[in-house]
Amino acid sequence: MLQDTSLLRIPGPTPIPPSVQRAMNQPMIGHRGIETKELLGRIKPKLKPVFGTKQDVMIITGSGTSGLETAVVNTTKAGDEVLVIVTGAFGDRFAKICEAYQLVVHRLEIAWGEAIDPEQVKEFLQKNPQLKAVFVTFCETSTGVLNPVAAISKAVHENSEALVIVDGVSCVGGVEAKMDEWEIDILVTGSQKAMMLPAGLTFVAASKRAWQVIETNPQPRFYLDLRKYRDNLAGNSTPYTPALSLLFGLEQALTLMEMEGLQQVYDRHVTMMAMLRSAMKALEIRLLTKDEAASPTITAIQPDDIDVAEKLRKQVKQEFGLVIAGGQQHLKGKIIRIGHMGYCAPQDVLQLVSLLELGLSRIGKQIDLGQGVRAAQEIYLHKGGE
Ligand SMILES: *Cc1c(COP(=O)(O)O)cnc(C)c1O
Repeated sequence: MLQDTSLLRIPGPTPIPPSVQRAMNQPMIGHRGIETKELLGRIKPKLKPVFGTKQDVMIITGSGTSGLETAVVNTTKAGDEVLVIVTGAFGDRFAKICEAYQLVVHRLEIAWGEAIDPEQVKEFLQKNPQLKAVFVTFCETSTGVLNPVAAISKAVHENSEALVIVDGVSCVGGVEAKMDEWEIDILVTGSQKAMMLPAGLTFVAASKRAWQVIETNPQPRFYLDLRKYRDNLAGNSTPYTPALSLLFGLEQALTLMEMEGLQQVYDRHVTMMAMLRSAMKALEIRLLTKDEAASPTITAIQPDDIDVAEKLRKQVKQEFGLVIAGGQQHLKGKIIRIGHMGYCAPQDVLQLVSLLELGLSRIGKQIDLGQGVRAAQEIYLHKGGE
């Protein structure tokens, strides 16, 4: 096999564009110097449209989970009653963080592969209007579901005073987020998914309503204290040494998104989703989620035959260096999760589908070579493209 090549199609980390990679190679600079101030000054306005907010988006060095923990420690305290919508492994993680901080956690558990129905949230809040916050995963990476966060946020605000706290780690940057318009109180994302960077940064924005809670919250916190990030960011700095190399890359990644146009970025993700789903249907491979609940950034497939998922993953990795992810928790070994976010385009999806067809043939599945590719091409011609 050709060495030094890999096709990373897992739902994060995702591939890095060459110009972002080069930007990250810049020599180190002082984090209290004018260069860093100017860099943060340039990054700040470019991040806001990605979140759909006028608020400053704070940048914290840490993986996405540190962003989730930041949301929890800043807005709640032990004993607070909260609702966590659990549509998969990442909703479960949000609930575990809340439990670690001794909140009283109600879990609204939804079958894996399905999206939450906002009506269920409404009903829950009408019975429990005393809740302090509602936590929800925007794209549930363990299943490829995109939850309807705008409608959920509306249901929460119409029926309670609770804050709406959204984990957008595996979609913000690839899927439109309108934090202000949707009245999301905290929106979190990470660097290694749709933002086209390595892991190591988390981005957190808070609404005015959230800031009122954050200011008066007695919960102890230090590194993750959002007030410090906000106050420093006002002067284009960070409270602690930032991951400067990632900030160099971030500026370039945001420039690439700006040059393509954010709407075009979102449309590209929708096209990739539609191409892959259509290809899988043509190959008669079951999709875990319904079309209406599918995320533009990640697709989960559930082959009928036992073993196919793991055999196929192994085959394409070994033969082509194509890396795709398996299932988590009870779906381990049963599904394959394919990431198509960030630095990924329709031409990559055609390659991916073609390699999956070859892989399926190699492991002994009877398929018509080219059928999936053709279905994806047809979607591209009719829906997407420049
Ligand atoms: C990747 C991911 C996270 C964060 O995971 P880290 O490994 O801490 O970066 C959080 N939520 C979702 C939905 C994710 O996909």
